[in-house]
Amino acid sequence: LIQLAMPLNLLGTVYREIKQSLIDMEVMFNLLHTGAEILDRPDAKPLLPEGGEVVFRNVSFGYDARRPILRGVDFTVPAGKTVAIVGPSGAGKSTISRLLFRFYDVTEGQILIDGQDLRAVTQDSLRASIGIVPQDTVLFNDTVYYNIAYGRPSATREEVEAAAKLARIHEFVRGLPDGYDSIVGERGLKLSGGEKQRVAIARTILKGPAILLFDEATSALDTRTERAIQNSLNEVSRDRTTLVIAHRLSTVVDADEIIVLEAGRIVERGQHENLLDREGHYATMWRRQQESAQQRRRTDAEPPLP
Ligand code: ADP
Ligand code: MG
Repeated sequence: LIQLAMPLNLLGTVYREIKQSLIDMEVMFNLLHTGAEILDRPDAKPLLPEGGEVVFRNVSFGYDARRPILRGVDFTVPAGKTVAIVGPSGAGKSTISRLLFRFYDVTEGQILIDGQDLRAVTQDSLRASIGIVPQDTVLFNDTVYYNIAYGRPSATREEVEAAAKLARIHEFVRGLPDGYDSIVGERGLKLSGGEKQRVAIARTILKGPAILLFDEATSALDTRTERAIQNSLNEVSRDRTTLVIAHRLSTVVDADEIIVLEAGRIVERGQHENLLDREGHYATMWRRQQESAQQRRRTDAEPPLP
């Protein structure tokens, strides 16, 4: 029991630390990450985001020098546009988002935001410019209001509620017994995955970053929840530079560019329609997902067993 209590205690301390002193949820990823330490260069300058253009210029990377993960990855997300990255599990999609956050430095090539190399800017300013909606949102054991306002603690009540409306969670919150004062999290009201995600989206809307990064949930959400989340994501990503790591292809149809990654290389790129016409990797993935969606609908429609 003592052996178990120690780490639990430590977790509690870490949790309180996070809640009290850290600027954002993203930092939590950093805490959990135990790889090589990335330090600010002595002459690092704050990132000056303009439109939020993201450029991966011929990027190669491996967690271990002997095993390359990304090879010559080259793409641009123009300011305000949306690029989606799709591909099989293990292709290196999440690695791209870790590099954009500079949890690691590239082995070869360059990553630039508005022309500024990530290695030349401070990590705080970099992470302040990127909003991430993670796969699994962790809520604080605090009020819904606190959980949303955390995106920008100086926000007014009106701004918090406006963000909640855009994220399509406002009506739901108003329906809770204590409204915005309802306590959520492990020791409070348990929200569904979709509700938690919408709270996270509201938080990100409030933060108002130049760049958005979505690493979509793999877990199958029901169609209604998926649509509600998709609507709120569309709302927040409008006019913002957005990089979507997508598992469900239904969410990438409107992307300005879709990049298909396989074993760390870009094997196809283009917009939805022209990728379908090409009848390659993307078209195959699309067909497979359409079939399994149909399969699910058929199973759902079956009458319950007596
Ligand atoms: P995806 O998101 O496309 O499923 P990832 O980018 O998470 O793929 O992973 C790509 C490859 O990198 C996988 O083979 C994975 O095992 C490896 N990998 C991921 N994270 C680490 C890590 N921290 N250390 C070593 N290898 C890793
Ligand atoms: Mg991933």
